[in-house]
Amino acid sequence: MRAGTRRTGYHGARGPKPVPGLRRGTAEGVPQPVPEADAAPGWSRLVTRHGVLDLPAYLPDATRGVVRTVDTADLAACGVRAVVISTYHLMLTPGVRVLRAVGGVHRFMGWDGPVVTDSGGFQVLSLIRENPGLGGLSRDGAVFRTEAGGRRRILTPEKSIQLQFQLGGDVMMCLDDCTRPEEPAAEQRASVERTIAWARRCRAVFDRLASERDWGPGGRPLLFAVIQGGDDAALRRACAGALAEIGFDGYGLGGWPVDERGRLLAETLQLTADLMPAGHPRFALGVGKPENVVACARMGYDLFDCTLPTRDARHRRIYNFRSAEPASVLEDGFYEYLHILDDVYLSDGRPLSAHCGCPCCRRYSRAYLHHLFAVGDPLALRLATLHNLTFYTDLLARLRAVLPPRASA
Ligand SMILES: [Zn+2]
Repeated sequence: MRAGTRRTGYHGARGPKPVPGLRRGTAEGVPQPVPEADAAPGWSRLVTRHGVLDLPAYLPDATRGVVRTVDTADLAACGVRAVVISTYHLMLTPGVRVLRAVGGVHRFMGWDGPVVTDSGGFQVLSLIRENPGLGGLSRDGAVFRTEAGGRRRILTPEKSIQLQFQLGGDVMMCLDDCTRPEEPAAEQRASVERTIAWARRCRAVFDRLASERDWGPGGRPLLFAVIQGGDDAALRRACAGALAEIGFDGYGLGGWPVDERGRLLAETLQLTADLMPAGHPRFALGVGKPENVVACARMGYDLFDCTLPTRDARHRRIYNFRSAEPASVLEDGFYEYLHILDDVYLSDGRPLSAHCGCPCCRRYSRAYLHHLFAVGDPLALRLATLHNLTFYTDLLARLRAVLPPRASA
């Protein structure tokens, strides 16, 4: 794209064209569709202030400003193009004041690519809903009591957006009230009502803060809203309809995406994807297992974040494609786990995967990684993480290669 003409926003080369009227955020200085001539053929793209993402894309969670055991140069070497950070965790440590003092989160992390700032909505589930002793919810926002000494932190929709601006997020998320599907109907209803009211307040403060400065050729950041409603189709419809009416740059799948037995809530996830306004990126928040990423990409989701591959790496679980053929990811059982500390790898001189070009597979054998884990060297964690991250970026590259174009509106 020509210098000076870059605009942030979503281009659905694979997807339906934006529907006029649904994009409230298309006034001057805010996202515009990328012209057809600039579009990469075959799949859609998300244009942000810090670069373009080919979709669908996987974004690792750099929750505390770091993907554990690797740095941002490592991330780039693994094909990672964007990361997700947690507003809640960075608000606690080192504090947003520190990040402002050093020039924002990009400079702090040494990362030039897009950064998605999570709103704190997931911590409403993982902290408050899972353990009411750690906080509470009100109409105004979420109160966290998670710090030593019982100090309270209040996250309102306004504060969440202000913090995300101070961090320097490229894609910001509305504060939402995240639930598990098994929670009672009254809780799901309350969550949807809060999520809509908070999204309206997030939109208002975002628009005010975005209008207070000249964003230059990169354009302003983007704002996504999150659709809640648990496993209730009527609530999902109500939430999606209200959020579309307010108008956002993209939409996220809210709530825990699997049931108590770990099965993907496929029907609800498909319905939610279908309810998202055409021409906007669809973020499958927290969907992580490779087969679930494939299933959701086929439903129309564009963005994925999950800690699973990096956590598995630290627990010696290595992902391996069974085939070099990209289309194999559409078949059951397209990958396997190597439990690298098993005795069978003690003297296995092959790379972790014959289908991987990651820094670990280019230089080292299964036997070496087995050895590093056996002696407890921290290098084992880094090499395994590099490999599993590369597996995920390869998985999404394969999906971009083999998924059929979406029907145009
Ligand atoms: Zn590898």
